[in-house]
Amino acid sequence: MKRVLSDRRSVLRGLGLGMAAPALASVRAAQGAVLPQPQRVSRTDVVVVGTGLAGLAAAIEAASRGAKVVVIEKMPEDKFGGNTAIAGGSMIVPRDNSSGAKADFVDDLFLKTLRRGNTELFRVLADHVLEDIEWLKGHGAEFVGPNQVAPYRLQTMQIAPRQAVGMPKFMATLKETVARKGGSIVYSTKAKQLIIDDHGRVAGVRALDAEGLRDFMAGAVVLATGGYASNRELLEGFVDPNSDAMVVRGVKWATGDGLVMAREAGAGISNMGGLMSLHIAAVSPDDPSHGVPDRGLPFCLAVNIEGKRFVDEARGYVVHGKATLKQPGQVCALVFDEQIATEARVKTSMESYRRLKLPILEAPTLVGLAEKMKMPAEQFEATVRSYNDAVHDQRALSAVPPKSALAFKLDHPKYYAFYPLVPGITMTFGGLTINQAAQVTEPDGRVIGGLLAAGEIAGALYHDDYIGGGMLANCLVMGRQAGRTATGGG
Ligand SMILES: Cc1cc2nc3c(=O)[nH]c(=O)nc-3n(C[C@H](O)[C@H](O)[C@H](O)COP(=O)(O)OP(=O)(O)OC[C@H]3O[C@@H](n4cnc5c(N)ncnc54)[C@H](O)[C@@H]3O)c2cc1C
Repeated sequence: MKRVLSDRRSVLRGLGLGMAAPALASVRAAQGAVLPQPQRVSRTDVVVVGTGLAGLAAAIEAASRGAKVVVIEKMPEDKFGGNTAIAGGSMIVPRDNSSGAKADFVDDLFLKTLRRGNTELFRVLADHVLEDIEWLKGHGAEFVGPNQVAPYRLQTMQIAPRQAVGMPKFMATLKETVARKGGSIVYSTKAKQLIIDDHGRVAGVRALDAEGLRDFMAGAVVLATGGYASNRELLEGFVDPNSDAMVVRGVKWATGDGLVMAREAGAGISNMGGLMSLHIAAVSPDDPSHGVPDRGLPFCLAVNIEGKRFVDEARGYVVHGKATLKQPGQVCALVFDEQIATEARVKTSMESYRRLKLPILEAPTLVGLAEKMKMPAEQFEATVRSYNDAVHDQRALSAVPPKSALAFKLDHPKYYAFYPLVPGITMTFGGLTINQAAQVTEPDGRVIGGLLAAGEIAGALYHDDYIGGGMLANCLVMGRQAGRTATGGG
């Protein structure tokens, strides 16, 4: 892939990108006459919509290659960064740069996504994510790792110093790098429509700020507006009529704006149907973003409010989150005992709960714990007893449902519970169809000229489940790729 751009204008012109602003008479907003044509018009090489990792990676790459870049963000400056700003900060990587490690990376994701993930884009991630993390480090970002994530062969890097804690500094570094490279960010400016020229190319974005409408004309537009977890209409229409049974773990303004705008311009979408298109985790209703005892989950017993088990806890937090959605009252508990509490991953979940000042229930007996959770104590005790009887060699295969790994008896008082836990949407998997160059395509595969998309909005990489760290890796690699394509790079 070509990575160096010596003369921005000549290359952009060669691609028909840098001539950015066609005559106004020949352009039209994608929604026809809904919005009037504004008086204020500015011209630039690349407009990026959204200040999450995908948008800022695109902006930094494009600006580093000599392009004039404007990023527009609908939120005020103190709320920039979308879901990236509140993320845990882990990113998946192949264990090294060998072709075998990359093939394992792709295969791990393929298997985790029920063989329906976007293998083409998994390969792009495998090829670039290690190099792109080095690129971020070169701009001042700090990472720790790699860490093993059993049972997978891929690994994760973590934004330093640890989960969630490093995000403010990381976001500040990205923002500062955009400025250092000559790009600018305009806040409180909401993209409303794509502008299309008379060749059917996207020629800019019509946006709304405090003074009214404003057109940003550009040679290329990068949509990086994130997912649609906070758009009830999209969720109920595409995913599930009962979507309101879930809390939203991310920012309330992840409303799929870019998806809606691009569809109006003819873009294709994929993987938007049913619960397979969502990442769901069981979370504390008091802190849906960070109150998630996912590390400890495989060691615990998940019980519903009737005191019954309902899922193989070893299958991971997304399977558990989706199963919780189907339980009475959409609520569950994760219970464990004093011995299980000494497991490192359970300790991590307990420490994070305490740091967040979330309660962990405890009692000297199972009956006492059931009473605290207002669960039928007899049923709860019977559930634990029959599960204990089934435990052999860290498995409980004859339990109902079976537990396939990390099964330990609960018989060391005292007893603990993370309770209540409710299903929360972490992210949406469906989105705009794009090719490996991050160009948005129509349902028939035709590229929409001038329009790129990256991050949670695009690619539909994951299906049903994903491996933690898979979305930020996608934002980084495809965001940077969008910046490269926008400036004529391969
Ligand atoms: C609690 C939590 C923890 C997570 N932890 C991880 C993790 O550790 N690893 C991982 O891989 N993934 C994680 N994820 C998922 C990941 O954070 C997101 O998928 C990712 O950050 C999305 O990045 P993005 O750049 O696509 O969009 P975002 O970061 O959401 O940014 C989109 C931006 O676009 C702006 N915008 C939207 N519409 C418009 C408009 N019309 N005009 C202008 N601006 C607009 C938004 O305001 C926002 O700033 C987590 C998610 C949550 C909720």
